Amino acid sequence: MTYKSILITGGAGFVGSHLTENLLAEGCQVTIVDDLSTGNWSNIEHLDKHPNLRVLIAPVEDRALLEQEVPRHDLVYHLASAVGVKLIIEQPVKTVETIFRGTDIVLNACSRYRRPVLITSTSEVYGKSTNLPFREEDDVVMGPTEKRRWAYACAKALDEFLALAHFAESRLPVFIVRLFNTVGPRQTGQYGMVLPTFVSQALSNRPVTVYGDGKQQRCFCSVFDIVEGLKKLPQNPEAMGHVVNLGSQEEISIEGLAQRVIELTGSESKIEYIPYEKAYAKGFDDMQRRVPDTSRAKQFIDWNPKYSLDDIIRQVTDYYQTRQQDAS
Ligand code: UDP
Repeated sequence: MTYKSILITGGAGFVGSHLTENLLAEGCQVTIVDDLSTGNWSNIEHLDKHPNLRVLIAPVEDRALLEQEVPRHDLVYHLASAVGVKLIIEQPVKTVETIFRGTDIVLNACSRYRRPVLITSTSEVYGKSTNLPFREEDDVVMGPTEKRRWAYACAKALDEFLALAHFAESRLPVFIVRLFNTVGPRQTGQYGMVLPTFVSQALSNRPVTVYGDGKQQRCFCSVFDIVEGLKKLPQNPEAMGHVVNLGSQEEISIEGLAQRVIELTGSESKIEYIPYEKAYAKGFDDMQRRVPDTSRAKQFIDWNPKYSLDDIIRQVTDYYQTRQQDAS
């Protein structure tokens, strides 16, 4: 890692905590800014006494804190964000405000002190596009503003615009990553994410809840592969000012995922199909398929995911089993 002192907003979150752990293992100094809203102390508890880690429990909207911390670091990862379709539909004001305000504050501080910054965006930005695989320069197809899900996509797209605007106007070194479905240990099902939900249902032999007809497809990528991409990207100046997809291209239907989870956990669970209207509050609109084109990631950082879906399901299962043992 060419950067030595790194600030991570959202460092106590699912992806942020794995990135933190990895960078500490490389010998970097890491500061986390996280208000533990969707992040969780338990994700970083084991790192608490690490001599190279500082944890600041504060929201990313704390402008004074960001102004103070950004110049002390030589790279900023902005991961703090509202996450999960469920949260986004249930708390739409918070979603739009924290996403846009937080990114604005981070970018302003990075601009003032000219610090390179990596912003994490999302495959949601592609919206309802059916032009697969999704390429970064493709048109996006947003749903109506009356369907709340799209507020998240629009807020994240605006973050990208703002970051690119800083690059265009002052050559601020910005790196933008669109994360596709990312899974692994420490991800919680609390905000509606499918894999942790299925694994915990299967481990307790409860029905595995497939929404809709389960024919919708996704590609699931290990958080460990994503972390490698997040580390490499800001080390290549050619990636500056570009949007880069990171995600797996191995597609599976949600019904197929449910079956695989039941099989690999040796569960007695049955699949229960739940209509979307029952699963989510009003304002939901799902997409059938979502596959990234990863040519840019290959070109810039020679990136390819290494973990298979079965590897990931096993890792998530181990994680939940260990936690159950700890809790009992
Ligand atoms: N899903 C499901 N059962 C659940 C949670 C999610 O069938 O308990 C579905 C969800 O409707 C979507 C897919 O699984 O089609 C992936 O959902 P997730 O929220 O993990 O990510 P998304 O791709 O929607 O951002």
